[in-house]
Amino acid sequence: MSPMLEVRDLVVSYGKIKAVKGISFSVDEGEVVSLIGTNGAGKTTTLRTISGLLRPTSGSIRFQGKRIDSVAAHEIVTLGLAHSPEGRRIFPRLTVEQNLLLGAFARRDNDVRTDLQAAYDLFPILGERKSQAAGTFSGGEQQMLAMGRAMMSRPKLLMLDEPSMGLSPLMMKTVMSTVTTLQEQGTTILLVEQNAQAALKRATKGYVLEVGQIVLSGSGRELLESDDVRKAYLGED
Ligand code: ATP
Repeated sequence: MSPMLEVRDLVVSYGKIKAVKGISFSVDEGEVVSLIGTNGAGKTTTLRTISGLLRPTSGSIRFQGKRIDSVAAHEIVTLGLAHSPEGRRIFPRLTVEQNLLLGAFARRDNDVRTDLQAAYDLFPILGERKSQAAGTFSGGEQQMLAMGRAMMSRPKLLMLDEPSMGLSPLMMKTVMSTVTTLQEQGTTILLVEQNAQAALKRATKGYVLEVGQIVLSGSGRELLESDDVRKAYLGED
């Protein structure tokens, strides 16, 4: 079976600067795949390119066998690929429910109520405060909202950009355990994280990105146990 997502020899540039320098990786259906790396490694650029928000200089991206590297971003959502962006990008003046409904913009059916309820089941606080302005939420609550909003498009593949960023340990646990819940419910996940421990613990497969290149790959467990990863990303001697 071909992978759900297949990225091949991807190069992405900002003007003359190559941010992603020819990376290849794949995500199979049902997996949680983690892309880890420090600031500036090219993780966000990679996700934004898969989403259609940036165009590659060269290389290919296939989703469920179809080339998507020149497909419009809103159509990519319709194909079943959703993106919860770095920094959450919620709409602070809109209510929680309005933010969630925006996640369903590309849907052609009218069954969004079922999905609103699914988002409230996943994160009960969203339901309790559905009429509240989203800007009043804490960082962790906004992260839940960003994930809930991405799920409103009923994605087959959900891409999460640094969901743990800036969260308290307790909030981080809640958010990261949702990754496992979503996987159990049948969503495939591509997770970008600086927090290598949290990301690799849950990953079926992981890739380490350094200045635009993949320098290591393996199962989540293999990477967690690798000396290079432990020294560079887990702060061990
Ligand atoms: P972070 O965790 O800080 O977001 P990252 O791994 O996601 O890091 P990217 O944001 O993809 O990394 O950045 C990769 C490289 O591209 C960096 O050197 C960055 O400075 C550069 N870069 C990112 N966005 C732009 C831009 N709009 N214009 C020019 N250079 C950019």
